[in-house]
Amino acid sequence: METVFISDLHLDKTRPNTTKCFVKFITDRSPTMENLYILGDFVESWVGDDDPADGVIDAFEILKYISKKTKIYFMHGNRDFMISSKICNKYGMELINDPQLVNLYDKRVLLMHGDTLCVDDIKYQEFRKLVRNKSWQTQMMQKSLEERLKIANDLRNKSANETTYKDEFIMDVNENEVKKCFVKSGADIIIHGHTHRPMVHKVKIDDREFRRVVLGDWGSKSHIFVLDNKNFELKEIQLK
Ligand code: MN
Repeated sequence: METVFISDLHLDKTRPNTTKCFVKFITDRSPTMENLYILGDFVESWVGDDDPADGVIDAFEILKYISKKTKIYFMHGNRDFMISSKICNKYGMELINDPQLVNLYDKRVLLMHGDTLCVDDIKYQEFRKLVRNKSWQTQMMQKSLEERLKIANDLRNKSANETTYKDEFIMDVNENEVKKCFVKSGADIIIHGHTHRPMVHKVKIDDREFRRVVLGDWGSKSHIFVLDNKNFELKEIQLK
């Protein structure tokens, strides 16, 4: 029995094939999966408990279905941070904090979405602080569903435009911030997504070596991470 980590599916009504692939992936994988960690950006946008989940509902339903046997943990990303614990419970998932330290197979694993590691992107960090604020969220929820869906759509377009013009290094994690997280948490491994740059990095601090695992986004393929007593594997999967 294994633990599987995924992130950055960015499920959206405009990409129905990814939702289909996810349902197939979960169905195939579930017999051997004891834990599933979804580390953020499961959906491209989410505007509150009344979100219609247009085009992505099958993905939530399959999670609910397998949750009878697989323990599912859900962490917010920068796209889906409005998914409440109520919605998570409805679909058989437990909402976890970012960061979250867990003990798995005698390893101390720090789980993150990854956006908090990108401290060089000052404009983004300011935006993050704003939208994670309770009063901003309360104000948002006072707007009609229609208005919120429009705002989500505008933000998505704005973000896509800005990303095109940002320097490569600004969009990636800051190495010092990574080291700080290892030291502060006492973790052996950090697993995160967000940057869409799947890789297992070695991180040296003094004379110790740590591992930072970066998960892949979901397009025609992805990279998931599989952990159990024997395996420590960033695995490429084909999505068709
Ligand atoms: Mn992200």
